[in-house]
Amino acid sequence: MSTVAASQDPIEDHRTAAGAPATTFAADIGGTWVRMSTGGPGAPVERVPSPSRLRHPDRSTARLRADMVELLSDRVPTGARAALSFGAAIDHLTGTVYGSAPLWGAADTPYDLAADLRRSRPDVTWHLVNDVTAALLDFAAVHARPGTRRVAYLTVSSGIALRIADLERTRIPVDTWGLQGEVGHLTVPLTDPGAEVLAGLPCECGATDHLASLASGPGLVRAARRLGIPRAPQVADWLPGALDANDPGARRLLELCAAPVAHLLRTLWCLDPHLDLIGIGGGVAEGLAGHYAAEIRRRLATATSYADRGRDDAWLGDRLVFCGPGQVDPLSGVLRIGDWLPGVTP
Ligand SMILES: [Zn+2]
Repeated sequence: MSTVAASQDPIEDHRTAAGAPATTFAADIGGTWVRMSTGGPGAPVERVPSPSRLRHPDRSTARLRADMVELLSDRVPTGARAALSFGAAIDHLTGTVYGSAPLWGAADTPYDLAADLRRSRPDVTWHLVNDVTAALLDFAAVHARPGTRRVAYLTVSSGIALRIADLERTRIPVDTWGLQGEVGHLTVPLTDPGAEVLAGLPCECGATDHLASLASGPGLVRAARRLGIPRAPQVADWLPGALDANDPGARRLLELCAAPVAHLLRTLWCLDPHLDLIGIGGGVAEGLAGHYAAEIRRRLATATSYADRGRDDAWLGDRLVFCGPGQVDPLSGVLRIGDWLPGVTP
C-alpha cells in the first residue's frame, strides 16, 4: 500500500490542519463497479458503474484514467484520509498501477494513479492498495486467532494472486517493485499423469504455462477446450452441476486445474512453517465451493516425500479456510490499512 502523502500516521489518529479528526473515505475499485463509503466501518456503501474499458470499450485509456481520477476526486470529502482498494497489480510503495486489462485495456504502461489523485486533490491523504492485499486484511481481521504468526489470502478468480502478512511484526513485505505474491504468473509444473495435455496454454500476461494459464477462471475455459469438453465456453455454469453428477470430464478438469494450486500451498508450507492460516477465495474457488475444497484437501492429504508427509483433516481444518461469496470484503479490509503502515516495506 502506498504512503502517498508524507504522513504515515495510523488512519484513526489522522487529524486535519484544524485539529478535527479526518473523515475516512474508502473505495473498492474493480472493472465492473466502484464501491465507496464515507465515515469508516459500518458506513453506507454506494456502488457506481466503473469508468472502465470493460464498460466503455470505445473510450481511450487516457480518458478512462481521467474519468477515474474525476470520480474519486468528486466523492472524497475535504481533508479526508482516503483508502483505495484497486483491482490491479500495484507498486505498494508508490501507488503506481502496473496494469489492469479490465480497467484500462491490455497494453498498459505503468500509470502513477497516486500522483494524479494527489494533484487533483492535494488536501486528501491517499493510500492505494491492491485488492488482494485489502482482502487479506479483512480475512486476517476475521479469522486470525491469538498466536497466529503469518496469514495468507489466495484469490483464484479472473486472475490468481496471494498476499502474506506477518502478524507478529505487523508487516506486509514487498519487493523493490512494491509487489508481493503475484503467483498467477509463476510457471506451473504439470506433473500429474497426462497433465502434459495442458502444456503451452497462454496466460493473460502473454507468456505460457503460468498458474493462471490453467487455474484461473479464463484458465479453466482454456483447459476445458484443450480437454475437448463441449461446454468449455460456459465452463463456469456447467462445471458445478457436472461435478455434482460425477461427470468424468468435469472431474478430470477439476483435478488438473486444482493440482497446481495444491502444489503452491505445499510449497508455501514447506518454505514457511509459521504460515499458520491461509484463506482461499475468488470466483473459481467460491463457484466450485465444496468440490474445489475437497479436491485441494485430497491432494494435500497425500504424502509426496519425507518433507511433505501429507496433512490430515484436523491439521488442515486449523489452517485452511475456504471462503464463500461475500465473506471477504476488500472495502472493509482497506479501512484497516492504517494499522499496517508503515509496515509495508521492501
Ligand atoms: Zn502470466
